[in-house]
Amino acid sequence: MRHDLLDLPPVPAALYGDLADRIGRLVGCTGDVLWVQGEAILALEALATSIARPGMRAVNVVTSPYGRLFGAWLRRAGATVNDVVAPEGHPVATGAVEAALAGGADLLALVHAESASGVCNPIEAIAALGRAAGALLVVDAVASIGGHPFAMDALGADAVVIGPQKALGGPAGIAAVALSERAWAAIDRPGAPSDSALALLDLRRRWLDAGRGTLPGMPSALEWWAMAAALDRIEAEGIDAVVGRHLSTRRATRAALRALGLQLWVGNEADASALVTTAVLPAALDLAAGPPALRAAVDLAVGDFGVPVIRFNHTGPRARPLALAEGLVALGDALGATPQTIDAALETAGTA
Ligand SMILES: *Cc1c(COP(=O)(O)O)cnc(C)c1O
Repeated sequence: MRHDLLDLPPVPAALYGDLADRIGRLVGCTGDVLWVQGEAILALEALATSIARPGMRAVNVVTSPYGRLFGAWLRRAGATVNDVVAPEGHPVATGAVEAALAGGADLLALVHAESASGVCNPIEAIAALGRAAGALLVVDAVASIGGHPFAMDALGADAVVIGPQKALGGPAGIAAVALSERAWAAIDRPGAPSDSALALLDLRRRWLDAGRGTLPGMPSALEWWAMAAALDRIEAEGIDAVVGRHLSTRRATRAALRALGLQLWVGNEADASALVTTAVLPAALDLAAGPPALRAAVDLAVGDFGVPVIRFNHTGPRARPLALAEGLVALGDALGATPQTIDAALETAGTA
């Protein structure tokens, strides 16, 4: 029996390379883009393991569990890591990063926009500090690509991890790593990790150095054909339009949640992620008892905020007026809001 999900055509090397080039254009990278088969967290671990070395001094910004993990992987690879931990649910203060860099740093790592805690770090200001310190700039842009404007070369970023499954609305089983020449100089060194699923150097040797003619390993056809479809869809809409609807949905969501009486966790819009909007959990809200439409839109934010904090999801396909309206109605109902209040919140969202 033939099955659409099983009997897929194999992934041609030309497609594998073409998709990497298209990701490069999307993130403003003229350097190399590698594919890592596995979810984005594996690509982050591979990058930390490949780029860090004993004696390296790293400044690592922590605004969610992802930053904490990244620091641990850098340490495991021998780096001396100075974690700059922001207050939970808030972006890092540029002054704190500047102070940490003053001690000397070879590498500066941060998450751009957070889907876990709902914040967006001031990446341009931090990148400028990193450049001034001469540090390699490593960015976890897994969630932000497609949700916030991002231009790798212009920013001076050296290593960027991209996840297809957040704002880009693609598959969750592969991720991309974009690298500058400076990043390669740190990764491709005597004694660097190799013959490992975490070694980016293996991918350079097997794919880039081999002229991109032979696939490095066995790509999962499902994932790459889905990636091709996701990029087709993003390119048809245009990356600026994709980012634009995330930013406008952030604005609309913030206004509507306020109209429903919720207390937003992130006070300034510019500090807020365009992927999710966080708010203090209202006492009247029982998430577990809600209908599927509520559970699709709202869950608990990830982190220790001191009080329970919810996040309203407007990532990827949910960054659209209809998905927003469905989520708002479900949330309003669960809060016991009157139809008039819910209508007013929808109206506010529409005009924000
Ligand atoms: C989702 C996310 C990740 C991890 O991605 P997975 O695909 O779930 O492994 C890493 N960093 C950030 C900022 C994310 O939002």
